Formats: sequence, structure tokens, C-alpha cells
Amino acid sequence: KLYNMVQDLKGNIRVFCRIRPAFCAGTRNVIDFIGEDGSLVISDPLKPKKDGRKVFQFNRIFGPSATQDDVFNDTQPLIRSVMDGYNVCIFAYGQTGSGKTYTMSGPSGGSTKDLGINYQALNDLFEISNQRREIRSCTNEYGLSLPDATLLTVNSTSDVLNLMKYGEVNRVVCSTAINNRSSRSHSILTVHVHAKDPSGNMLRSCLHLVDLAGSERVDKSEVTGDRLKEAQHINKSLSCLGDVITALAQKNSHIPYRNSKLTLLLQDSLGGHAKTLMFAHVSPEEDSFGETISTLKFAQRVS
Ligand code: ADP
Ligand code: MG
Repeated sequence: KLYNMVQDLKGNIRVFCRIRPAFCAGTRNVIDFIGEDGSLVISDPLKPKKDGRKVFQFNRIFGPSATQDDVFNDTQPLIRSVMDGYNVCIFAYGQTGSGKTYTMSGPSGGSTKDLGINYQALNDLFEISNQRREIRSCTNEYGLSLPDATLLTVNSTSDVLNLMKYGEVNRVVCSTAINNRSSRSHSILTVHVHAKDPSGNMLRSCLHLVDLAGSERVDKSEVTGDRLKEAQHINKSLSCLGDVITALAQKNSHIPYRNSKLTLLLQDSLGGHAKTLMFAHVSPEEDSFGETISTLKFAQRVS
């Protein structure tokens, strides 16, 4: 009950943290404690334990052993509210390699097991719409125009999966000094839903599923020229997103949507009656500690 009340006060913004499994057993793990209540304790590998502890609080924490189904179970109510006319945005935030794409799409390499929120959400929406026997449709009249965006009608989850694979291939990926598979772009899957309420009125809503570009700081990747500009641009759009969600969480009268194309594009689905969920992804290894702290601070700020 108390949890629900806190949710209400926060005006429909919630933050979940997901920690991916460690890749190499040899490195020190910075995660100290994961609480059922959403508390997380991490420790600075360079400081003695008692001085280096930092505590964060989120709505929910998914530890390294959490499954895709565990994650979806807690996301499903939000997805279903799209059928009741709510606009919903789900973001995956975090440094490259922390598991954003795993959460949203599934494992790398095109495995059909352990598929992520995109797949499960679409499946769920199609299932509900089949039960209600509503006509699935897709219109061309929506929002801000994006030069390379494509709007297509889909009839099943597999249609969507195929489209997403196509989108992933077209996504800009480039090598930087710290990562050889760093995503330098945001990937947005938007689902427009037309549904009828019990009295037969048409409800229109949309679900945005957003796999954000890596949040790692620019200086570390030692990039120059166009790559540097691109990285600065990404960092700016991520900080604008943070500013918008923070302003919403604080119920400010001015919400700075216009500071980035990302927030402008998602404006109708951020704030008002819309619901927002941010997944903050962290890597447990000690060499990621700096980025982990900055991700957790970002996520704490918007919650
Ligand atoms: P990002 O999109 O943040 O750059 P990825 O989702 O590509 O990161 O994750 C990096 C690697 O770690 C991938 O090979 C992915 O399959 C794996 N991975 C990430 N999260 C998990 C998890 N929770 N369980 C198992 N493997 C994971
Ligand atoms: Mg990715």
C-alpha cells in the first residue's frame, strides 16, 4: 500500500535498476547488497569497504540472476495500461555493454530464447487485442516527422520482430577506444494502439520502447572529429532526457522538452497522464565503477 502511495506521489515515473551477470569471474564485483525494497549498496573498489560504500534507492532492483520473465512481470502492468489509453515510455539507460539491448530485445546474436521487453510487450498487446477482437490498425498521421523513420502496419509479433531485426542492422554502430560495439544511436520502437473502452469510445495511445545510446562519458573513449561531435550530441540528448524526467518528477511548471529532438519526439508520452519507466543498467565489474556510479546518480536524480 505504502509503495503504491509513493508511486502515486511520484506522478507515474518509476525507475528500475538491472545488474547484468559478471562476465569474468576474476574481477571484483562492486555490488554489495541488493534489497527487496529497491535499495542497492555498491562499494568503491579503490577504497576500504567502510569508506567506499554508497547506497541508492530505486523502485525495484533486478540482480544478475533475474530472468527476462522476472523483468517482464513487473513491466506488464504498464504495458497493459496502453490498452486503457495511457501513453507509456520505457527507456533502457546505461553504458555500452551493461545490458540495455538485452533487456529491450534479448541476447545478442539473434537467439530466439530469452527475448526482451519489445517482444513480450508486443505479444501481450496482440494477445489482448485478439481477445477483445479489436481491429489492429496503424495510421500515418502521427507527430513529429523523422526523416528516416518508417511507419508500417503489423499483424503479429513476428512481423514486429522481423522489422526490429531490420532496424538493428540499420542502426549506427561504431568502434571507439573503450568499446568495439558501442551503439551511437537511440533506437525507438513506437507502437500506436487504437482500442475501445467499455462504452465503445475509441482510445488512442502509444507505447515507446527506447534502447538509448550508451551513456559512457566522451573523454574516456578518446574520440576526435565527427565521432567526438556525435558523442557530445548523444551525451547532450541523454542529459536533456534526464532534465525532462527530473522536472516531471519534481512537478516543475516548466518542462524543457524543446532542448533535444529525443524529448521533443516523446513529448506526448512524457508527463501529463503518461507513464514512464526507466531501466538503469549497470555492469558489476570493478573497472566499470565510475560509469556505474554515474548511471546510478542519473537514475536517482530522475526518480
Ligand atoms: P548494451 O546494449 O547496453 O550495450 P548488451 O545488451 O548488448 O549491452 O549486453 C552486452 C552483452 O551482455 C551481450 O552479449 C548480452 O547478451 C549480455 N547480457 C547483458 N545482460 C545480460 C543478462 N541479464 N543476462 C545474460 N547476458 C546478458
Ligand atoms: Mg545495445
